[in-house]
Amino acid sequence: MSRIAYINGRYVPHRDPAVQIEDRGLQFADSVYEVILVADGHFVDEDPHLERLDRSMREIRMTPDFARPSLKRIMREVIRRNRIDYGMIYIQVTRGTAPRSAGFPAKARTTLILMARPMARPDSEKLARGVGVITVPDIRWKRRDVKSTSLLPNVLAKQQGIDAGAFDSWMVDEAGFITESSASNAWIVTKDKELMTRPASSDILRGITRMTAIGLAKKLGITFVERPFTAAEAKAAKEAFQTSATICVLPVTKIDGKAIGNGRVGELTQALIDSYSAYAAPVAIAGARRRQSVTA
Ligand code: PMP
Repeated sequence: MSRIAYINGRYVPHRDPAVQIEDRGLQFADSVYEVILVADGHFVDEDPHLERLDRSMREIRMTPDFARPSLKRIMREVIRRNRIDYGMIYIQVTRGTAPRSAGFPAKARTTLILMARPMARPDSEKLARGVGVITVPDIRWKRRDVKSTSLLPNVLAKQQGIDAGAFDSWMVDEAGFITESSASNAWIVTKDKELMTRPASSDILRGITRMTAIGLAKKLGITFVERPFTAAEAKAAKEAFQTSATICVLPVTKIDGKAIGNGRVGELTQALIDSYSAYAAPVAIAGARRRQSVTA
């Protein structure tokens, strides 16, 4: 089956050229985006993701040429046409196409692009063993709360991790504190069994999965503290993991080559993996009621 994408009112073959050369997303990374998990036919945390998209647009003074109900309809149509049961949907909004000039164009319609992709379910090998990360300096800009497509520093950080034989990199600010991973939020569990993640500010992206995981941790009665932690604290932690819409809750068992805790997936991490997977895919639990399907 061929993949179908959406751009400005048209459903097009995924491989077809569709974006203009002078699209500001391409030339200036003048665009924002969202990635939402599709699990068993429903969007996980759909509204929080769409609210963050609105906020990202507001923060860079971009006025969309579409309304949320029509975007929701398009999302469902893209999933339907691509027959996604488990996967992700990607939404990007650019400030549109206009003769190249850095300042905002006087008149340009925002470009709306959607694509979807089936994904393998969380990798059981990675979930059972955890992954390694390395720490790298955070060279990004000062508004990391905006989900901007200016991802070059993130790309370089991720590749540096891969080159070092790790799965990912955790980025470190000038003061020595971990900000987040190249594409997810970073968490530790201290020796005192305190679950810790950096407070949401302009220093990190306010992860939707992070927010959901905080709620689940509270339900599980886990002590939760929001404060920045250093790379040294992370290496001395009992457990570590990272969260995002596509990796969900992923255990980190090695940082800069040092085993975290006993080097195995921690107890609280495992509880959160289980609780998130039940939250995201209710059908995975025998007898559970299926959530309303996105195609319904
Ligand atoms: N931080 C960064 C830098 C990200 O790119 C992402 C998303 N890939 C996240 C955190 C996690 O956000 P979410 O849980 O909304 O996917």
